[in-house]
Amino acid sequence: MYKIAVLPGDGIGAEIVPEAVKALKAIASRFGHEFQFTEALVGGAAYDVKGHPLPDETLELCQQSDAVLLGAIGGPKWDNLPVELRPEVGALLPLRKELALFANLRPCMLFPGLLHASTLKEEVITGVDFLVIRELTGGLYFGEKSREKTADGGQKATDMLTYSTYEIERIVRFAYQAAQKRRKKLCSVDKANVIETSRLWRETVTDLSKEYPDVETTHMYVDNCSMQLIRNPRQFDVIVTENTFGDILTDEASMLTGSIGMLPSASIGGEVGLYEPSHGSAPDIAGQKKANPLATILSAAMMLRFSFDLEEEARVIEQAVTEVLEAGYRTPDLMEEGKKLLNTVQMGDMVADKILGLR
Ligand code: NAD
Repeated sequence: MYKIAVLPGDGIGAEIVPEAVKALKAIASRFGHEFQFTEALVGGAAYDVKGHPLPDETLELCQQSDAVLLGAIGGPKWDNLPVELRPEVGALLPLRKELALFANLRPCMLFPGLLHASTLKEEVITGVDFLVIRELTGGLYFGEKSREKTADGGQKATDMLTYSTYEIERIVRFAYQAAQKRRKKLCSVDKANVIETSRLWRETVTDLSKEYPDVETTHMYVDNCSMQLIRNPRQFDVIVTENTFGDILTDEASMLTGSIGMLPSASIGGEVGLYEPSHGSAPDIAGQKKANPLATILSAAMMLRFSFDLEEEARVIEQAVTEVLEAGYRTPDLMEEGKKLLNTVQMGDMVADKILGLR
């Protein structure tokens, strides 16, 4: 039996997570597994009820589970809370830290049915298949933050950017191992021409590359990488980078796949993995059944693969998504002329039925 903590969170989180649970239940039924789902509050929803975006019982549930399925957190309602109580800072960052989730994996793969959904030309995106590995528990987002008044009556704000050799080696080794299982190409992204942590990053990667002679190592500045991602994305196999750069580059990469609603993610490193879509709580479409649940469903597939070692089951989910898209079904974010429009629940039902072989 696998214990899964289910944290829908805010905004569209409450709409997309049940669809991923549906897919997991279909897998359980088809393969005879037992998944035990326990739901808990997180983010603004938790703040409203418990006064904190990450209540102790939610953290304890996650620590005692085999994996965590998260929707998304945050929204305008909670934007003006003191910074430590804001959903992203008060829940997401401590959750990553407490569960020791230092590696965030975001596969960027174009589903054949979505060739026309991207804003980029077909010849640029055909065959795109790469994996971004983002360092998740260090760097700017976790560095010390401060504000002070300046003599001219203004203010000075500081965010510390720190990386140690240990933190860099840990994520880069992980990326090399991932590259060894793929096309054996690793591109390390930094800003070593300007930033000191990036210089340490590059030196560390260069040292480690000697231990992985079977993998071709390249280095790229982050500004160039943001350009290369839309110029020639097929050149990439595995990209490894620090926290902030990875956050920004993966949102950009999501556009190659047609919609941010298609990009899953896995955060791993400790004993319990956390699986969530790469997007946020999308307050602009929340409550309207317009959200695309596929990124969350594909995150559930990553849970099967990375936390439970159920590779075949993971592939069954991915295949179901492929077939649903090839059959022309779309949520509004991917809608084009001639396709069949589904709402969030209908899309979840369609994928679950495919998993069960009912369609
Ligand atoms: P967002 O990802 O929520 O939305 C960006 C755009 O993409 C919006 O137009 C939205 O409608 C669309 N979109 C996102 N997911 C979609 C889906 N599944 N289907 C269809 N369209 C989708 O980013 P944002 O607007 O910058 O942030 C909204 C809130 O989410 C903020 O409070 C932010 O802090 C939070 N956020 C949370 C996480 C997280 O929980 N991991 C990540 C990013 C942002």
